[in-house]
Amino acid sequence: SEQAASLLSVRGLTKLFGDFAACTGIDLDIAPGEIHALLGENGAGKSTLVKMLFGVLQPSGGQIVWQGNPVTIGSPGEARQLGIGMVFQHFSLFEALTVAENIALSLDPKTPLAKIAEEAASLSKAYGLPLDPYAHVADLSVGERQRIEIVRALLQNPKLIILDEPTSVLTPQEADRLFETLFKLKSEGRSVLYISHRLEEVRRICDRATVLRHGKVTGACDPRQETPASLARMMVGTEVAAV
Ligand code: ADP
Ligand code: MG
Repeated sequence: SEQAASLLSVRGLTKLFGDFAACTGIDLDIAPGEIHALLGENGAGKSTLVKMLFGVLQPSGGQIVWQGNPVTIGSPGEARQLGIGMVFQHFSLFEALTVAENIALSLDPKTPLAKIAEEAASLSKAYGLPLDPYAHVADLSVGERQRIEIVRALLQNPKLIILDEPTSVLTPQEADRLFETLFKLKSEGRSVLYISHRLEEVRRICDRATVLRHGKVTGACDPRQETPASLARMMVGTEVAAV
């Protein structure tokens, strides 16, 4: 069935902060091997939605279905166990530690550091994310720090990787490199949930887009078939775009 074909299905997902609804009744389906954009203006509820998918926030209502099974994702550790990785908008890295030491912090404490460094180096090479596992984070650029987060997610062999506005901190060259990495993940049958408000890059790299506005889904489309204007209308609302 269509249901069984989707890796992740979200039904009626809602998040209240007090009496403010950051997400209301969100429906979303992510297929295997798809780069799916979550598009919307600042404050639309994008980060809140993916934090629920990664177990950082608990939903106020609705259901998350993973590979056909309803799941509760109680923590990022539980999300990783299911096969969900996430690269946050703001990184949580220890500046004084090395790349490998930072990665070690999210893994089984019994894993030897040399093994982590070796695996990180091999993944960084395979996915076009140059990184020295023995470099100190304090000496690294923001683009390199993001690569640590991606490699850290890849070490857990995820079926879905969520990236929250990854290009907002990247140079155009670094962004192009990231897109190559995402295409490789897609070619391996992994899914990517890609948050952005940049219409051009979404049209360039994403197979599907779900548009959020004021915490609700206002549209879903194949962004390659849309114009920047039609996507912008879905983001900001037709009444605004028509002025
Ligand atoms: P986006 O990522 O699309 O910019 P967010 O999901 O970060 O949007 O935020 C959606 C709305 O929810 C915003 O109005 C934001 O201020 C509010 N919000 C987010 N997190 C919290 C929180 N922890 N407590 C209260 N309000 C929040
Ligand atoms: Mg956000």
